[in-house]
Amino acid sequence: MLDYLLTEEQEAVRDLARTIAEEEIRPVAAHYDVTGEFPWPVVRKMAEVDLFGVLVPEEYGGLGGTMTMNMVLVTEELSKACGGIALAFAGTALGVLPILIAGNEEQKRRFLPDVAAGRRLCAFAITEPQAGSDAGGIRTTALRDGDHYVLNGTKQWITNGGEAEIYTVVALTNPAKGPRGASVLVVEKGTPGFSFGKKEDKMGIRASATRELVFQDCRVPVENLLGKEGTGFITAMKTFDASRPGVGAQAVGIAQGALDLAVAYAMERKQFGHPVSSFQGLRFLLADMAMKVEAARALVYAVARHIDAGSKWRPTMYSAMAKCFASDVAMEVTTNAVQVFGGYGYMRDYPIEKYMRDAKITQIYEGTNQIQRDEISKILIGEHVAGRGSGS
Ligand SMILES: Cc1cc2nc3c(=O)[nH]c(=O)nc-3n(C[C@H](O)[C@H](O)[C@H](O)COP(=O)(O)OP(=O)(O)OC[C@H]3O[C@@H](n4cnc5c(N)ncnc54)[C@H](O)[C@@H]3O)c2cc1C
Repeated sequence: MLDYLLTEEQEAVRDLARTIAEEEIRPVAAHYDVTGEFPWPVVRKMAEVDLFGVLVPEEYGGLGGTMTMNMVLVTEELSKACGGIALAFAGTALGVLPILIAGNEEQKRRFLPDVAAGRRLCAFAITEPQAGSDAGGIRTTALRDGDHYVLNGTKQWITNGGEAEIYTVVALTNPAKGPRGASVLVVEKGTPGFSFGKKEDKMGIRASATRELVFQDCRVPVENLLGKEGTGFITAMKTFDASRPGVGAQAVGIAQGALDLAVAYAMERKQFGHPVSSFQGLRFLLADMAMKVEAARALVYAVARHIDAGSKWRPTMYSAMAKCFASDVAMEVTTNAVQVFGGYGYMRDYPIEKYMRDAKITQIYEGTNQIQRDEISKILIGEHVAGRGSGS
C-alpha cells in the first residue's frame, strides 16, 4: 500500500480498527452473513476500544481531530473483513452527522457522549417507499402541536433500523412547501408511536440490519428539531457531502479484502502444473484490480482530507466522485476476484462470493451511481456556464 503520510493519530486509529477487523470480525463474518443476525458482540468490542469515539469531537467525549479521515480509515479496515458488520459503525457515522452539522449545544451534549462511547448506535432516515432517488418526494409529516411535533409516515430500508437508539429523520414540518418545508428531527427508540417493520432479507451486507421505521402519531419534543424548520434538505445534503467518502471507504475496504484473497488463492491454486498466478492472463487481471483499488483509495482519502481541512470549496462534487468511483471499482474488483477463484469462487464454502454480494450495495445507497453522476455533471456544467474554476 502507498504511504499516505498518515499522522501518528490516524495510524493508531487505523491499526486499532485493523486489529478489531482481524481478531473480532473476520472469524465471525461468515456466521453473520448466513444468519443475518445483528453482530452485537462485535459492536460491543468496537465500543470497548473506543472506535465510535472517532465520530465525535473531543468536547463531547470523542477523539476529535481529523474526523472524516478517521471515519474513512475505520470504515475501510472493518470492511476488508466484512462490509456488513462495518455498517454498524458506518451507519452510526451517517446518523450522527445531522447532529454534528445542525445540532445546537444542548443537543450535542445530550446525544453525542453516548455515541462516542458506543452506548447508542445511530441511523439516518430519508428514504420512503415512493421517494428514493427523488428524495424531495417524501411524505412523512412532522406537524407542530404545542411543544411537540407529531410524526406520521414510513421510512424504508433504514440501516441500523431497529438496533439504533438515535434516529435523525427528515420529515415535512410544512408540507405545503414540499422539500423547502422539510426539517430533521431526532427521534429516540422507545418514543410512543415509533415502531419498526420486519428486518429485510438482503442479497449482501446481511449482518447489517435494514428495517422500516413507522411513525403513527409519534410525538417528538420541539427540542429535538435540528437547526431551523425548513432547513432539512440543506442538512441532508451536507450530511451526504460528509458521508459519501465513507461509502467510498467501505467500497475500497471490500475491494481490497477481495483482492487480498484473490492474490493468495492465485499463488496457491495449481493448474497445468503451475500456480495460476504464473499465467499472464490472470496476472494482468490482478494488476488491473490492484491499480483500481489504489486509485479509489487515493481519491477517497483526498476528499476526506479536503473535508477535514475545512476548505472553502464545498466537497459535493468530489464526495460524489469518491462514492461513485470507489463503488464501481468495488463491483468490478470483487467480480474479478470471483473469476480468479474459478468455480470455487462461485461456491458459498469460499469467502469470496460474499465480497461480490456486499459490494453491490455501495453502488446503490446514499444515492445511486446514476444520481452521483447526475450531481457531478450538474456541478460541472453549472461551473462552466458560470465561468468559474472547478471545485466551487
Ligand atoms: C440495504 C439498503 C440500505 C439503505 N440504507 C438507507 C438508510 O440508512 N437511510 C436512508 O434514508 N435510505 C437508505 N437506503 C435507501 C437508498 O438510499 C435508496 O435505495 C437509493 O437512494 C435509491 O432509491 P430507490 O431504491 O428508490 O431507487 P429508485 O429511485 O426507484 O431508482 C431506480 C433506478 O432508477 C435510476 N434513477 C432514478 N432517478 C434517476 C435519474 N434522475 N437519472 C438517472 N437514473 C435515475 C436509479 O439510479 C435506479 O437505477 C438503503 C437502501 C438499501 C437497499
